[in-house]
Amino acid sequence: MAVTRLRPRLDPATAGPAIHALISELYPICRSITGDGIRQTLARLQKEIPLEVSEVPSGTKVFDWTVPREWNIRDAYVKNSRGERVIDFRRHNLHVVGYSVPIHATMSLAQLRPHLHTLPGQPDLIPYRTSYYEEAWGFCLPHRQLERMQEDEYEVCIDSSLQDGRLSYGECLLEGASTQEVLVSCHTCHPSLCNDNLSGVCVAAFLAKLMAGVPLRYSYRFLFIPGTIGSITWLARNEDRARKVAHGLVLTCIGDRGNFTYKKSRRGDAQIDRAVGHVLEHTAGDHTIEAFSPYGYDERQYCSPGFDLAVGCLMRSPHGKFPQYHTSADNLGFVDPLSLAQSAAAILAVFDVLEHERTYINLNPKCEPQLGKRGLYSAMGGTDIRQAELAMLWVLNLSDGSSSLLDIALRSGLPFETISAAATLLSQHDLLAPAPT
Ligand SMILES: [Zn+2]
Repeated sequence: MAVTRLRPRLDPATAGPAIHALISELYPICRSITGDGIRQTLARLQKEIPLEVSEVPSGTKVFDWTVPREWNIRDAYVKNSRGERVIDFRRHNLHVVGYSVPIHATMSLAQLRPHLHTLPGQPDLIPYRTSYYEEAWGFCLPHRQLERMQEDEYEVCIDSSLQDGRLSYGECLLEGASTQEVLVSCHTCHPSLCNDNLSGVCVAAFLAKLMAGVPLRYSYRFLFIPGTIGSITWLARNEDRARKVAHGLVLTCIGDRGNFTYKKSRRGDAQIDRAVGHVLEHTAGDHTIEAFSPYGYDERQYCSPGFDLAVGCLMRSPHGKFPQYHTSADNLGFVDPLSLAQSAAAILAVFDVLEHERTYINLNPKCEPQLGKRGLYSAMGGTDIRQAELAMLWVLNLSDGSSSLLDIALRSGLPFETISAAATLLSQHDLLAPAPT
């Protein structure tokens, strides 16, 4: 049985900078739900972790959806009559509406204007816009820049292609003792945006790298997929594997300086929900636990009624609730190495709970066993002695086969790690045995 503790393997001093450095490398790439940007991203991740890349042809039916045509872009600009690029994709890939169809034409500002998207309330930021499922083209720019544009003959060029191709996604499987899986899913379809969702991508890659080669109880599957269509495609192609998902987390927006937010799985009281709640309670200070709702990221698909997987969504500032969301301000300065390291540590602490969660039976249930004569007082080194003693009493009292270690941690208010260590010690002294499964 695996007894490795994952969280202590993380060195906060090096983890944050390492994750941030990977975000910085991936930031300039123009990703979308298909195309070379996502391939380039997966290729870079392959240098970190063993990542198997799948390519699914356009037109493939995936439940009620169809894998779209593949989009690629080489260049895009709006030039004024002096030949100056007043909007330039090369300066920021958010300048082009994702999935824009190609165009090369000359037009007046009045003709161009319906294709220009700005944020009047945040006039210095470029918005992020896409048009995946409707053929359109457009540019995004700071509102102040639009206000400076004068009537002119503009040369408008989007050198893109939208053709039959493939949808790419990556998965990294770390095999544990059990074929039951922990799913870690993140979307890799956003262009130059950091918190949403290079934070999730790079924390997931960091964790996969850190856990590779470690003896694990569960198998861990890390999915790097385009949002919505990617999870739908994966589920359509892996219905059998989906049934092996015992616990799961969607990771998104976990690099900013905000407090943690956890959105529970549809089940609401799954082990993952209770484990995340417990870890945040003990390590994260102020945080928010939200009930499931069928709006958000890929948990919507994992938690659709035909699957109903125990998959929650871990965030810091929740999507749509921070002003930088889906704008050029979601940049490298918005994600913070310390926050990234804390997020990785919190996830490892959750995995530690999953790895060590057990139910035991007290072998001496008639009155308390005498701990002193067994040398069990002060036997738990490194922990607060009073807390260790309390933990042993809680474990002995509640281990009647109906309460797991996590149940005991939640009921006693003590950290899972302390409860789990107490159970190990009591087992070593033959006071506790694993409950028959
Ligand atoms: Zn987004």
